[in-house]
Amino acid sequence: MANNSSNGDNQTTTKPPPLPSPLRFSKFFQSNMRILVTGGAGFIGSHLVDKLMENEKNEVIVVDNFFTGSKDNLKKWIGHPRFELIRHDVTEPLLIEVDQIYHLACPASPIFYKYNPVKTIKTNVIGTLNMLGLAKRVGARILLTSTSEVYGDPLIHPQPETYWGNVNPIGLRKLLCLKLHHLLPCTHYIVHGGFGAVMMRGSVAETLMFDYHRQHGIEIRIARIFNTYGPRMNIDDGRVVSNFIAQALR
Ligand code: NAD
Ligand code: UDP
Repeated sequence: MANNSSNGDNQTTTKPPPLPSPLRFSKFFQSNMRILVTGGAGFIGSHLVDKLMENEKNEVIVVDNFFTGSKDNLKKWIGHPRFELIRHDVTEPLLIEVDQIYHLACPASPIFYKYNPVKTIKTNVIGTLNMLGLAKRVGARILLTSTSEVYGDPLIHPQPETYWGNVNPIGLRKLLCLKLHHLLPCTHYIVHGGFGAVMMRGSVAETLMFDYHRQHGIEIRIARIFNTYGPRMNIDDGRVVSNFIAQALR
């Protein structure tokens, strides 16, 4: 978990954090914490929802476009008075009042994030921007699930948070672009839909998080998740651990 002072960045916050919603100070306010989980119908998100729902002081709101997630993952909570499920794409603005945001919305499996790489980048950049705008307006703390891919092809194992990584920011197509240099304006690099896209989306979203923290004082958390597996993940997810297990079973 990276916190505000990590990443080798010594810049300090320029603004005090925004105040929470005025509802927090109202006379008859119930002390429930309203928590938004984007991508909460997915593999990791639905487990997070289970955990958050265990606390009776929490109200959990899931926002998901069901691209890779499923209502099935949340069926035990649908209809629960402290739970709400909204079909919404995070690339569109979202007006809602919450105290905390867990921003997970984005396909994690290569099969799905390569399916529409432009949409994947939009989800990461515009989606994260929208969630940061929301966090700024309501004074909510926001956590982004970033990825270990931000370390690129690391030269240090295991990677401490202070390690800046070994990254080719334009992906494998750099070589192709350089070969085509005489045909393409130099700004028109192609970010390929695999490693480059994953790394770029992780790092652009992280940069936005730190910029909103520095410029607007919002409280941020970033979790760089490594390869995760477990119940509710798609058997055809396409990553190494599930591939080995699925092949062994077959
Ligand atoms: P997942 O695909 O199971 O869940 C992602 C959820 O986001 C799905 O429910 C999907 O429908 C939803 N979603 C996608 N695009 C959306 C959009 N534009 N608007 C609204 N909802 C949208 O993936 P996961 O494994 O649960 O991963 C969750 C988060 O963790 C992702 O941000 C992923 O990049 C990150 N992560 C996961 C791993 C891993 O090993 N699973 C590794 C690194 C990072
Ligand atoms: N936004 C949102 N919900 C909100 C507040 C903002 O979805 O409650 C979106 C907003 O539409 C904008 C983005 O978040 O596209 C960034 O908002 P911010 O206020 O930081 O930037 P601005 O709107 O001033 O460009």
